[in-house]
Amino acid sequence: MPKLNRETAATGPGRLNRTDLDTVLDTLDEAIAQSTLSDTQQTVCLLLVQLRNFTRLNLSRGYEIGDAAVTELGKRLAGQLGDRSRVMRISAGKFAVILFGLKTGAQAILAARKIERLAADRLEMDGDKLRLDIAQGMALQPENASSAEELLQRAEMALAAARDKEDFFATYSDEMSEKLRSSSHVESSLLDALADGGIEPYFQSQIDLRTGNPCGAEALLRCRDKSGAFLNPEAVVDAAERSGKLLQLTSIILNVALRHAADWPRDRGQQRVAVNISAQSLREPDLVDLIASCLSIWGTDPDDLTIEVTENALIDEPEKCFDLLRRIRDLGVRVAIDDFGTGYSSYSYFKDIPANELKIDKAFVLNLTTDLSNQKIVRSVIALAHAFDLEVVAEGIEDEETYDLLREMGCDTGQGYWIGKPQKADEFLHDLEAEKNKSG
Ligand code: C2E
Ligand code: MG
Ligand code: MG
Repeated sequence: MPKLNRETAATGPGRLNRTDLDTVLDTLDEAIAQSTLSDTQQTVCLLLVQLRNFTRLNLSRGYEIGDAAVTELGKRLAGQLGDRSRVMRISAGKFAVILFGLKTGAQAILAARKIERLAADRLEMDGDKLRLDIAQGMALQPENASSAEELLQRAEMALAAARDKEDFFATYSDEMSEKLRSSSHVESSLLDALADGGIEPYFQSQIDLRTGNPCGAEALLRCRDKSGAFLNPEAVVDAAERSGKLLQLTSIILNVALRHAADWPRDRGQQRVAVNISAQSLREPDLVDLIASCLSIWGTDPDDLTIEVTENALIDEPEKCFDLLRRIRDLGVRVAIDDFGTGYSSYSYFKDIPANELKIDKAFVLNLTTDLSNQKIVRSVIALAHAFDLEVVAEGIEDEETYDLLREMGCDTGQGYWIGKPQKADEFLHDLEAEKNKSG
C-alpha cells in the first residue's frame, strides 16, 4: 500500500504546501505498482479538483480570501476522503486526489460526488458566505491509462472537458483524446497554411429574390491540410482563436475577399461581398481599424461590404457588441446577423440591433416546403424584420420549390446549393460574367 502522508497535504494551521508533479507521479507509480501486485483487480483513480472561482476570488476579494478558499477546500478533501486516498495541492487552485485500492470505477464516481458535496457547503468569511465553485476531471488505471504520466494527462483532459462544459465533473473518454488529436491537426494545418499563403476564401453566390439577379456573394474560409483535404471552417476559426492568429486570419479573408470583389462586374447591379466575423473577433479592439484600412486599400465602396456576425456571438455582453457593430456601420459597412433563429435573443432586441440584415439559419430553410412550423417561423421572422427595416436573407436553398416559396413569403435575398455552391474566386467570377452576358 502506498504510504499515506496526509500531513503533506494540509500542513500547519490551514496552510497548504504545493507538491511538485514528480511527487504526484511517484505516488501514482507506487499506487499502480501496488494494485498490480494485488490478487484481485484493483483500480487507481486520479481526480483533479480545481477551484474554478479562484482567480475571480483573488481579484474581486483579495488574495487572502482566495487563499482561505483554497485552504478550506484542501482541508475538506484531506479530512474526509478516508485512508485510501491522498490529497496534494499541485498548483494555485488545483488538487490531485489519488484514490487507490478501489474495487470498481463506480467507487471513484461516488468519491467525486462526495467531493462535490464537500465543496457545496459555503465557507463563512467576513460575515459573507463564499461558494467553493469546483470542477473535477477523473481518469482511472487500468481502464483509461497504463502509466502514471498517462493517468495525469488524461485526468487533465477530463478536467478541461468539465471546465468547457461548465460542469462540475467529467470522466476521461477516448473521444477526448480524439478531439485533442483532431484539434492539434487543425491547428498545425492552419499555421502551415498561414505561413504558405494557403488560406483562400470560396465565394457562394447570393441572389436578389425580388429580381432574380445575382447581388453578391458570401466569402467562406477554405483551408486544407497536408493531404489536401478541406478542414471544417468553424474548427479552423476555433484553432485560430486558440493560437492567437484570429486577427491575422480575419485580415487575410477580408483582404482577399475585397480584392476579388473589386473585379466583379457591377454594370447590371450592385455586387456585395459578405465576410464572417467570429464571436471572439468582435472583442478585438483593432477590428474596426482593420476593416477601415482594407476598404481603403482596395478602394471598396463600404456599402459593398457586409459583415456577418452570428446571433450567438451577441449573447454575451450585447451592449459592447452592439457598440462595435455601430462603429462598423458608421464606416458605411452593412451588418448581417447570421444563423438567425438558433440563438436565444428576445424580441426586444430587434429595436436596438444595429444591423441591416437577418440571415435565417439554414436549419429552418432546408426542409421548408414540408415543415409547416418552420414555414410559420420564417413568415413571422420576415414580417418582424421588415417591420424594423431589416432585410432578410435565407441560406440553405437547395431546390426550386424552396426558392419559390421564399420569394412568395417576401424574403429579400437568398443563397444555397440550388443557386450555387461555394466556388473558387476565378470560377465565381467566370459564372458571374457568363450570367451578365446571358442576360445582356
Ligand atoms: P455560415 O456563415 O452560416 O455559412 C453558411 C454555411 O452553409 C457554409 O458552410 C455554406 O457552405 C453552407 N451552405 C450554403 N448553402 C447551403 C445549402 O444549400 N445546403 C447546405 N446544407 N449547406 C449550405 P461552410 O462553408 O462549411 O461554413 C460553415 C461556417 O463556418 C459558416 O457558417 C461560418 O459560421 C463559418 N465560417 C466560414 N468562413 C468563415 C470565415 O471566414 N470567418 C469566420 N469567422 N467564420 C467562417
Ligand atoms: Mg455566414
Ligand atoms: Mg449561417
